[in-house]
Amino acid sequence: MEIFNYKGICIKENKRAVYLDPANSRPDAAISHAHSDHLRPNTHMTEPTADVMKVRTKSKKATTHKYNEKFKINDFELEFVSAGHVIGSAMIECHGVLYTGDYNPYGTVTAGIAEPRDCDTLIIESTYGKPNQALPDRNEVLKDLEAWIKVTSNNGGGIVGAYSLGKAQEVIATANKGGVIPAVSDVVASVSDIYQKYGVKLDYVRYDELNESERKRPGLVVTSTTATNGRKPNPYINELRSKGAKVARVSGWCAFEKWALRGVDAGFPISDHADYDSTMKFIEECNPKQVFTVHGATKELAKEVQKKLRINAMPLPKYGEVSIEHFNQ
Ligand SMILES: [Zn+2]
Ligand SMILES: [Zn+2]
Repeated sequence: MEIFNYKGICIKENKRAVYLDPANSRPDAAISHAHSDHLRPNTHMTEPTADVMKVRTKSKKATTHKYNEKFKINDFELEFVSAGHVIGSAMIECHGVLYTGDYNPYGTVTAGIAEPRDCDTLIIESTYGKPNQALPDRNEVLKDLEAWIKVTSNNGGGIVGAYSLGKAQEVIATANKGGVIPAVSDVVASVSDIYQKYGVKLDYVRYDELNESERKRPGLVVTSTTATNGRKPNPYINELRSKGAKVARVSGWCAFEKWALRGVDAGFPISDHADYDSTMKFIEECNPKQVFTVHGATKELAKEVQKKLRINAMPLPKYGEVSIEHFNQ
């Protein structure tokens, strides 16, 4: 079996191949989740991923499968298992190969958790693959966020900018825990409706549906990052800000990068990706013979895995680029 990157992750055996998170739509592929860098219509995906795709792209072209249910593509047997990243997100297992996609080993309030699994070959994302990339304790940051939400929503108002798929729902759940029902943008609401469909309890109202006096004092508003960072300014958000509402960003990058805190009053480093330490732990617990890194700090992570865990590791090679045997010499 050969594994390499050719317009996505390709697993090949003789003349048969299957693609994971391909660059283009293709029926012989499976995708991990519905974030736009992974989402391709006309592929195999979980049911919630297909629902999010319908809302976001209007496409209904999908072959859907449940978690932990085996299915076949070109005679390869595959299985989706929870990745804990966003609703419907999946790690993909295929004949001893485990591809994590974007995964979250801490667990979420709204989208489950990624558990390590024994495998021969692990293809793992290395978004935060550098040894200095450590995130603070998720539960502690969530507590801080809850406190911030309570204070701001009872005073001049709070606005949270977060990715509309995944992060926004964690923020809504945190607000609800503190007794606050946020007003949300239409985009955030349409994705949150899908979470509701799958039994995740979230209380929110669309801010487009508030009456005039409610609009003036909405308490907490949850919207997409682009509406708060100035990339897609929203007149309503700007108006609330000019009247004294505070703005927060919720993103893992708040722990590492200055740009993540630009233009906001507070930053909460909550990520739906694993940081360096938890990535290393996850790899160790999957006990693979070979690790391939994809996305982000691929070289740095591969080097650490070789050195500290003594497991063969390298960035996923491009088609025809370098043979595995050669790299390990
Ligand atoms: Zn993602
Ligand atoms: Zn991603």
